Amino acid sequence: MSVCALCMKDDETHDHLFFYCQLSSAIWNSLKTLMNKQMVDCKWNETINNFAEKPCNNSIWSIVRRLCLAAAVYGIWRERNSRIFSDERCTHETVFGKICDQVRSRLISLKAKSSSAISQVEHVWNIKIRRINN
Ligand SMILES: [Zn+2]
Repeated sequence: MSVCALCMKDDETHDHLFFYCQLSSAIWNSLKTLMNKQMVDCKWNETINNFAEKPCNNSIWSIVRRLCLAAAVYGIWRERNSRIFSDERCTHETVFGKICDQVRSRLISLKAKSSSAISQVEHVWNIKIRRINN
């Protein structure tokens, strides 16, 4: 078992790397409000499994959650690899910023009908989503 490249403390298990490592849990905590989830005391891996298993629903918040999940897992994995292979380290704020940029760029490519959920997402993410004319 190799040691986690993010904290250099614990064994690099899948759950540790993506959820419980200091860097990863800081990222998930920062993402919480952006996903419109108030989860106190939750186990992140269970929450995420929950999202993943839910039937696809095209509500805007479920799209936001799926984008956050994919971007966070990708961002954490990239940070791990750059520490191992390039000896470059980013802070969790920087990794978080990259994750948000990725989600934001996907969200602004969407088109949606006006709704209160859409306005909420625009507010929370500080973006404008194009409207479908109907
Ligand atoms: Zn770690």
